[in-house]
Amino acid sequence: KIKVSNLYKQYGDNHVLKGVDLEVKDNEVVVIIGPSGSGKSTLLRTLNKLEEPTSGSVIVHGEDIAKKDVNIDKVREQIGMVFQHFNLFNNLSVSDNIMLAPMELKNVSKEDASKLARKLLKIVGLENKFDAPIQSLSGGQKQRVAIARALAMHPDIMLFDEPTSALDPEMVGDVLSVMKQLAKDGMTMVVVTHEMGFAKEVADRVLFVDKGKVLEEGTPDEIFNHPKDLRLQEFLSKVL
Ligand code: ATP
Ligand code: MG
Repeated sequence: KIKVSNLYKQYGDNHVLKGVDLEVKDNEVVVIIGPSGSGKSTLLRTLNKLEEPTSGSVIVHGEDIAKKDVNIDKVREQIGMVFQHFNLFNNLSVSDNIMLAPMELKNVSKEDASKLARKLLKIVGLENKFDAPIQSLSGGQKQRVAIARALAMHPDIMLFDEPTSALDPEMVGDVLSVMKQLAKDGMTMVVVTHEMGFAKEVADRVLFVDKGKVLEEGTPDEIFNHPKDLRLQEFLSKVL
């Protein structure tokens, strides 16, 4: 479904990604871990063309989206993204946030968009927040609205960039359980997270990225219980 080959990205003379390979199969959950500044967000952002790679290929659904002439809107319809800081429209209600993209980009009627919003809010456990202003929500609730908003475009891949890092500890579980349910329902997911418990439980594969390279890749058991790479061992000793 996704195949990244020999991906390089530099900002000026800052070489952020240095030859990354990544493959994500249908229904797979791939978790990316690694220290701050190692290039995790940059890697994730190249998967839906928020970032142009310097070189290398990013094949999504058989098409190289690293090329200049691809239809960005189509790519983003198929790939949903959830950010650390929600990126919701704070001046709109919960339902309007969810209904906006289907109505504007897919010509879905207001009535159908509203039905869809209700259905999605139920899935993320917020059916009573349909009309609520975004400002009235907690961080965990906002993040679940952000997930519902991404799902409203019916993506078949979801990208998550540290979706729980900005949340109070007691909110983290609600968001992770929505993500776990999505994974169970067969969503293909790429998740950057510091939640090692989530990685152990949900990931099919874990990638350890450091200084722009994938230093080790394996099952949660291989990565967490039998890490080979020294930098990975050191990283785990700090975060576990
Ligand atoms: P964190 O865990 O802190 O989120 P990260 O692994 O996601 O870190 P990135 O955000 O991908 O790391 O950043 C990797 C490097 O790229 C950093 O040195 C950062 O300063 C640089 N960088 C990221 N985005 C840009 C940009 N738009 N312009 C210039 N440099 C950037
Ligand atoms: Mg990041």
